[in-house]
Amino acid sequence: MLKLDNHPAGRHFLQIPGPSPVPDRILRAMSYPTIDHRGPEFGTLGLKVLDGIKQIFKTGHPVVIYPASGTGAWEAALCNTLSAGDEVLMFETGHFATLWQKMALKLGLKPQFIGYPGTEGWRHGVDAQMIEDHLRKDSGQRIKAVCVVHNETSTGVTSNIAAVRKAIDAAGHPALLLVDTISGLASADYRHDEWGVDVTISGSQKGLMLPPGISFNALSPKALEANKSADLPRSFWAWDEIVEMNKTGYWPYTPNTNLLYGLAEALDMILDEGLKNVFERHNRLAHACRTAVNAWGLDIQCADPTVYSPVLTGVMTPENVDADAIRKTIYEHFDMSLGTGLGKVKGRMFRIGHLGDCNDLTLMATLTGCEMGLQMSGVKLQSSGVLAAMDYLSSHPSPLRRE
Ligand SMILES: *Cc1c(COP(=O)(O)O)cnc(C)c1O
Repeated sequence: MLKLDNHPAGRHFLQIPGPSPVPDRILRAMSYPTIDHRGPEFGTLGLKVLDGIKQIFKTGHPVVIYPASGTGAWEAALCNTLSAGDEVLMFETGHFATLWQKMALKLGLKPQFIGYPGTEGWRHGVDAQMIEDHLRKDSGQRIKAVCVVHNETSTGVTSNIAAVRKAIDAAGHPALLLVDTISGLASADYRHDEWGVDVTISGSQKGLMLPPGISFNALSPKALEANKSADLPRSFWAWDEIVEMNKTGYWPYTPNTNLLYGLAEALDMILDEGLKNVFERHNRLAHACRTAVNAWGLDIQCADPTVYSPVLTGVMTPENVDADAIRKTIYEHFDMSLGTGLGKVKGRMFRIGHLGDCNDLTLMATLTGCEMGLQMSGVKLQSSGVLAAMDYLSSHPSPLRRE
């Protein structure tokens, strides 16, 4: 049998930017017995989660819940709105934007992948002006969708989606706006309706604090309209039948019942705390984390302070130091998992997750593990990041919001 309890004592620090630690409350809710997904109780659960999740996306339109990882919901967004050979405009912010672009190619779409040269784009957010310029040149309106990643999990950059909407409108272009906020939802401010997003894609295992296994498409009336003429093949992912059955709280196939129990609990936790407070908590912890990295004298992967991510921080290691070797030292000595550098930045940086069920002391322990691991790996630090973060948190206290 797979041995998962080989950690010496205390708890494992899962500080990767998703999956994030699952609160005990949610694990307990998920242990309720699996029920008949066509029986009378199920509809109540279905309606509760379908309604609650709309509040998280800030939408009055349908949200589709799939028993799939985020990648599935990416595919669903594309195949429900587009046709074979359609051009799509995608922006290279990092590894996840790149993977989504590869998927578009495989599905028979024609992605135009724009961005900054080399790895420069991997340190910045989406450039809305570049999108506007591109759309203005598309006089034949061949581009059918603009696809961007809201929170680029590979780098720690949170792009300005309202600016992308403005750019599309300024160009007078009818393209749909498709946004991946798989790692941003319920951690970073997000407004599906207000920002005029047509399809928002998200997943369970990041800000929603659930295990991996369910994912989402939030829709707009324009996306539902596009769905009628889109001809990419789809069956499992098809919105029409799901949206119809969801009206009574049921699904055309067996949904992920126990994860839906977890989702109901997560929604209670997040909505009780209040989205505004949740975002404030994330911003404050992210600031404390960056304070530590600055004190160490290391570079933050995101080079533009206006788009720092509240979800995670990418830490660049000095030229000659392998970031994965530091991660290994930290894992072996302090029982903590940190995010690896992905794609173009492999070995050049590591990622500290501070999302979901995270508080001041979780972050302080995390930073302590990082600082010890950096020192053990021979990285010269300018000063103690731990002390700097402690100073910041104690001089900017946040009241415990408990009833
Ligand atoms: C995690 C993540 C994905 C992939 O989701 P899976 O659940 O691993 O399929 C895609 N995009 C972003 C931005 C992510 O953070």
